[in-house]
Amino acid sequence: MRLFLNPPLRRDCVLAFDLDGTLYDNPNYIRAQEESQVVQLAQFLGLSFSGAAARIRDIRQARAARNLPAASLGDIFRKLGVSDNMIVQWRRDNIHPRDWLSEDPRLQSILTILSTHHELALITNNPKSVATESLRALGILACFTNIIALDDTFKSKPHPAPYRAFLDVARRPPEDCIVIGDRYSVDIEPALGLGMQGILIETPSEVYLLPEILE
Ligand SMILES: [Mg+2]
Repeated sequence: MRLFLNPPLRRDCVLAFDLDGTLYDNPNYIRAQEESQVVQLAQFLGLSFSGAAARIRDIRQARAARNLPAASLGDIFRKLGVSDNMIVQWRRDNIHPRDWLSEDPRLQSILTILSTHHELALITNNPKSVATESLRALGILACFTNIIALDDTFKSKPHPAPYRAFLDVARRPPEDCIVIGDRYSVDIEPALGLGMQGILIETPSEVYLLPEILE
């Protein structure tokens, strides 16, 4: 865990969580999500699955070779000519959180504790329907006041647009907002760039430590 905090912290910050890899850990589901999108891309480009996967890999490798930060899958799809609406629709149609996620009683109790002092929000690169369904499957939907999803801005993190949209609905100065996520360049860096604070976690179990850290 790495903290990007400027104490003293307010007792009533807004905590903006990432979803995948932050509120649950399920590598098979995360892989299935990506594979379901590659299937759609392959149809769109008229390629085989491995042909489409190779196109994605080439873009990722080219960015890495130029020392650019990792791009979101959505951004890679845009580069390959997929429209914003199609990116959202493919995810709505093919990602089914209830098949993969189940209630996490410990996470429920930790987020319930956090939500007594702090407002909780979600900022995700998935559409709102997938985000809502995921939080419901984990049994934590009621803890969240706001969800900023892909179909709010049609920009994927690390683009700053989802963070700006979050600040608009949170109606709080950026320094009162703490973003919690599992990828520095995607979740944390853009938030710090807008004056927010951040907590980078390595595993979702580190979310269990947040009440102590924010005390
Ligand atoms: Mg994540």
